Amino acid sequence: MATTTPIKSKSATNAHPNLNAANSASIDIHKLITWFGHSSFSINASKRIYLDPWKLPDGLPKADIILVTHEHQDHFSMADIEKITGPHTHIIAHPGCVGIKGNVEYVKPGEKVALHDVVVDVVPAYNVTKFRPDGTHPHPKESQFNGYIIRIDGNTFYFAGDTDVIAEMKEFPKIDIAFLPVSGSYVMTSAEAAEAANIIKPRVAAIPMHHGTVIGTLADGDEFAQLVGQSAKLLKKHDG
Ligand SMILES: [Zn+2]
Repeated sequence: MATTTPIKSKSATNAHPNLNAANSASIDIHKLITWFGHSSFSINASKRIYLDPWKLPDGLPKADIILVTHEHQDHFSMADIEKITGPHTHIIAHPGCVGIKGNVEYVKPGEKVALHDVVVDVVPAYNVTKFRPDGTHPHPKESQFNGYIIRIDGNTFYFAGDTDVIAEMKEFPKIDIAFLPVSGSYVMTSAEAAEAANIIKPRVAAIPMHHGTVIGTLADGDEFAQLVGQSAKLLKKHDG
């Protein structure tokens, strides 16, 4: 079971014991991370981690870990999860993602999961300024949808899920690589995502997502990159 622990504050985690100037300079984002479009990625580190797998091509390596932020159909796809699930795959998901077969652990914000040398802190993802026509948020805070802070190989990744700029971002530990949604409508706009990047200040890369497939265009990513500057990294969609 996941244990509930508070998210560590900046002061508690600013050591980065495994990082030094040499290995930070050698991170090749385009090798380390593959974008399958929208919010679907793999982190190709010592463990292969898939994030909100969706519309994956065939023939991909099996996952060591799969993370699913919430049950909306553009983030939770049973068919894609099954495509990359092998006998040793661990799946970490929001409790709304019902019916996942295999080695699955359902988690909520505030919980922490340690799998061998990978540590995942679950952080909140919710709307503040985005509403549906009926006045409700697409991602209400009460639904406790997930974002994930993932530590692997001495790097810390923040996978935001579907969120607006939220106060909790100020309390995050140091982040090396941040994935931030930019499409607007249900999540941050590119300008808001740039504001989030300015709060989080990812050391290596700020990567736009949740655009260019079903909502938002690649221009949203370009605008995000312009606002963020040097740390923004635009990935080319992997076409299989
Ligand atoms: Zn959503």
